[in-house]
Amino acid sequence: MRVLVTGGCGYIGSHMVRCLLHAGHDVTIVDDLSAGFADTVPAGVHLAPFDVRDPRVRELLVDREIDSVLHFASRIQVGESMRDPRLYFRDNLAAGITLLEHVLSAGVRRFVLSSTAAVYGYPQYTPIDEAHPTLPINPYGESKLALERVLASYATAYGLSYAALRYFNAAGAWTDEGLGERHDPETHLLPLLIDAALGKRAPMTVFGTDYDTPDGTCVRDYVHVRDLSDAHVAALVYLADGGESGAFNLGTGQGHSVREAIACVERVTGKTVPVSYGERRAGDPPVLVASAARAARVLGWRPSRASLTEIVSDACAWLARQ
Ligand code: UDP
Repeated sequence: MRVLVTGGCGYIGSHMVRCLLHAGHDVTIVDDLSAGFADTVPAGVHLAPFDVRDPRVRELLVDREIDSVLHFASRIQVGESMRDPRLYFRDNLAAGITLLEHVLSAGVRRFVLSSTAAVYGYPQYTPIDEAHPTLPINPYGESKLALERVLASYATAYGLSYAALRYFNAAGAWTDEGLGERHDPETHLLPLLIDAALGKRAPMTVFGTDYDTPDGTCVRDYVHVRDLSDAHVAALVYLADGGESGAFNLGTGQGHSVREAIACVERVTGKTVPVSYGERRAGDPPVLVASAARAARVLGWRPSRASLTEIVSDACAWLARQ
């Protein structure tokens, strides 16, 4: 297939690009480099260094005979979305709608959206399947859910085929390809823990120890970034085969507490993680674990790097080199 990857220089997007190349697809990247890194672009891959709203995106879609768009470019920080929601409605929702204008007018028929477990809000039951009510509790989740709804309408009206892939906690790295997590600022648990263990960062703070969970800390479903990439390839093949549009959860179905993550990082690095214990972080649900049964059944996707040890080992190998 001939695929356009927006945000292809970001954390998940850069892994996606390599994964597509390994699977034999042709790749073009649009990334304005506001959060991505041009040094992730493999030799021979065309990088268009502009925003997804830029009218040149339409020309690119036509000139390069793109048949599928994978849309990663977006803002991703829950806290920032609470403080400054217009960034999220402007850069995730409105920009996504403008990108869809380019997609429709260029005649592209397949679209995969990078979505999030944040569309569900506080879990009413766990593991969370796609039938769970979608009641986001922050503008980040709202912006992604709204774009999913736009896609659903466009699918009905214009025959666009789409998959909205709702990631749980993306983690891990692809060190052989020189790829890993590079966020600035870094707010995610595993890189903070690993860098603290390696002495590259200040001790990390555990946000809350009084949750209604087995050890009092929050439980999350960490899924390997390479498994996420594989799921996108499966979604593209599914849509190309005439599969019905819809949303799919991507996770391992296994939950790990913050304390378990600390113990895992200590095992893998052989070092003690310096931690302090603090207050809960606003907006953190106690448990977020996916049921990815639908992705398994419909897309044939199962994570093949599902153990926390493997995810942490890969992340450590990458972060130790930085
Ligand atoms: N967390 C923490 N300290 C940190 C960062 C995260 O205790 O410095 C916890 C956070 O409360 C959550 C889990 O680690 O329970 C995963 O947080 P992360 O920000 O990585 O992902 P999120 O679940 O918010 O998408």
